[in-house]
Amino acid sequence: MVRWPLIMDFFYIERGNMKANQKLNHTGAHLLAAAVMKLYPDTILGIGPSIDEGFYYDFKFANPINDQDIKKIEKQMKKLVSGGYKMELVKTSDDSKQPYKLELSKELKAKGETLTYYGMINPSNGESIFTDLCAGPHVDSVAKLKNFKLLHFSAAY
Ligand SMILES: [Zn+2]
Repeated sequence: MVRWPLIMDFFYIERGNMKANQKLNHTGAHLLAAAVMKLYPDTILGIGPSIDEGFYYDFKFANPINDQDIKKIEKQMKKLVSGGYKMELVKTSDDSKQPYKLELSKELKAKGETLTYYGMINPSNGESIFTDLCAGPHVDSVAKLKNFKLLHFSAAY
């Protein structure tokens, strides 16, 4: 299966000190996934772990994406940032179309872990526009993610 990881960079974060900014980086992963799902609802979500350089999130797009798509995704992310969406615990998530999330949920449950879900909440109506299986932690609002750029994407096998 071909996946398309997207890697993002925050301008104001020193590369050598990513650990101090884990909350910010990790919230960025939610922001990225929310934007991707808004624009390409048929995308299969992988996982979005932290890495030394920040984080990545891998996606299986229905069609391969190009530089124009990257620009679109970035624009959508900035829109969400200016919308002041909040990161809050929610009860559950509909992962019926997300095989990797279902698999992960099963594994965690088998280990006896409690599943937690975080939503990206629209402050004007209290609804989550994107919910992800996640243990946190996050910054309280995506409004804190101001100066970022999607660096690049690459196909991985
Ligand atoms: Zn999270």
